[in-house]
This record gives sequence, structure tokens and C-alpha cells, in this order.
Amino acid sequence: MLSNEEIVSYHPREKHLANKIILITGAGAGIGQAAAVACAEAGAEVILAGRTRSKLESVYDHIIEAGWTEPLIFPVDLEGATPDDYSDLADSIDTTCGRLDGLLHNAGILGQRTPLSHYPHSVWVKVLQVNLTSQFAMTQSLMPVLEKSDQASVLFTTSSVGRQGRAFWGAYGISKFAIEGMVQTWSMETEGIGNVRVNAINPGATRTTMRAQAFPAENPESLKTPEQIMPAYLYLLGDDSADVNGQSIDAQLRKPSAN
Ligand code: NDP
Repeated sequence: MLSNEEIVSYHPREKHLANKIILITGAGAGIGQAAAVACAEAGAEVILAGRTRSKLESVYDHIIEAGWTEPLIFPVDLEGATPDDYSDLADSIDTTCGRLDGLLHNAGILGQRTPLSHYPHSVWVKVLQVNLTSQFAMTQSLMPVLEKSDQASVLFTTSSVGRQGRAFWGAYGISKFAIEGMVQTWSMETEGIGNVRVNAINPGATRTTMRAQAFPAENPESLKTPEQIMPAYLYLLGDDSADVNGQSIDAQLRKPSAN
């Protein structure tokens, strides 16, 4: 395994994701959009998942115009989707593609930055559903198609507030703590019995809508763009990280007040 310093400056060989089929949630905006474009540029067939069809279509158009492999679109609202929806998704991937090589759980919501004593129950339920429960259910349903891959990578998105508690981050921070725990548990359960590895990635402070929502007074120019943090994503989704399992990796080393 590369060191974290080497991972953040990883330079993949050209088309290192050729023949890979990779599903990315929240692929219509922010870090997910950058990941979809980076994976397509690296040769992957990407499945663009997200809740706003027009945003997914615009990423689709970008990929087609660049001449890369045609993506698939899977509109899904992680707040309302049920295990049956994920089961249908798995059947459709099995029928269309025959396997899945990568699953990037990127979609997430911030919820409210409020003391826990005043945290609204409805927001708590929504954040845990989108940031945690949906990701568990989707992974569980997709595991049989991931197991059909020679080398599959499941990558969850964590955050610094999921590693060390921070006041006023509410359900968001707690959902990321749970993601870290789910990665540890799932990676232990897959270790040595198949070709599916399970890891977490922490983007670090990145110039997106969510970051602006969390830190409205911050100068976005001081932050890395989603495109600049892609080396770690490309490493963890490709076969160069085949021996990496159960890790929580930083996509950038310098973290101001990260979320
Ligand atoms: P954005 O808010 O920019 O993008 C979030 C994405 O998630 C959007 O594509 C959004 O779709 C999608 N999404 C939100 N709710 C749902 C839903 N119910 N169903 C389906 N898709 C949904 O966030 P970032 O790009 O900043 O964040 C990406 C990930 O990185 C998140 O998991 C976040 O917690 C994590 N992270 C980000 C950091 C940062 O500094 N930016 C730092 C640490 C972690 P739509 O556009 O249609 O609403």
C-alpha cells in the first residue's frame, strides 16, 4: 500500500480504469461530478446515480462530448429509496453489465449545524437515512454483482468530524462516525473470502456547495477544487489499491477546519 503522501499525488497510468464499471452516487455535482468525469477519463464505464436527473444528464453530455465510454444514468433519491429499489438496481446492473467493479458512496447531506439538545428529530432521521442507512442497503444489494468482479472496490465517504467529535455538527458527524465503523466491519467480513475491498475516503476541505453551506464566510478560493483531490479517488478505485482494505484515507493532507 502507498503512503498517504503518495496517494494524494498518485499519477495513474493512462486509462488505468479501462473495462471497469463504477457506480458513483451524487454524481451530478461537487466531488461526485468530478469523480465521475475523472473515472470516465480514466477509461471506466460510469453509472451516474443521483437525485437530480438534469444534473446527471449534464455530466452524461460532458462525458459523451469528450469521447469517453457512454455512461449509464440511475436517478435515485437516497432519502426515499427502499431495499427493493436497490435490488432492482442490482438486477439491472447484472443484466446490462454482468458485474460491478467499483461503488463510490459519495452523496451526502449536511443537515443542520445545531447543538444536539436542539437537533430536530426529522433532520436527524433524514441525515442518517441519506448518509448511512441508504448506503448500507445499496451496498448489501450490490454485493452479489460486486462479487462477480475480479477486483471490486467499495469506497465510502467519511469526514474529519467522523473521526473526532466536534460540537454542533450533529447528525452529520455521527453519520460519518458510523461510516467509519461500517467500513471496519464490512472490510473484516470480506477480507480473504473474495475480491471485494471496502475503504473510506476523507475528501478534506473542498470547494463545493456543501462546504459553502457549512462555512459561508470562508473564501472558496482558499480551498482545493474537487478536480484537485481526484488522485486518491483514482488510486482507491483502481487495481493499484487491490491490497488496501479497511482503511480510511485522506484525499488531501492539509486540512483547515475540515468538514
Ligand atoms: P455537494 O453538496 O456539493 O454534493 C452532494 C451530492 O449528493 C449532490 O450530487 C447531491 O445531489 C447528492 N445528494 C444529496 N442528497 C441526495 C439524495 N437524497 N439522493 C441522492 N443524491 C443526493 O457535496 P460535496 O461534493 O461537498 O460532498 C460529497 C461528499 O463528500 C459527501 O459525502 C460529504 O459529506 C463529503 N465531504 C465533503 C467535504 C467538503 O469539504 N466538500 C469534506 C468532507 C466530506 P443534488 O445535487 O441533486 O442535490
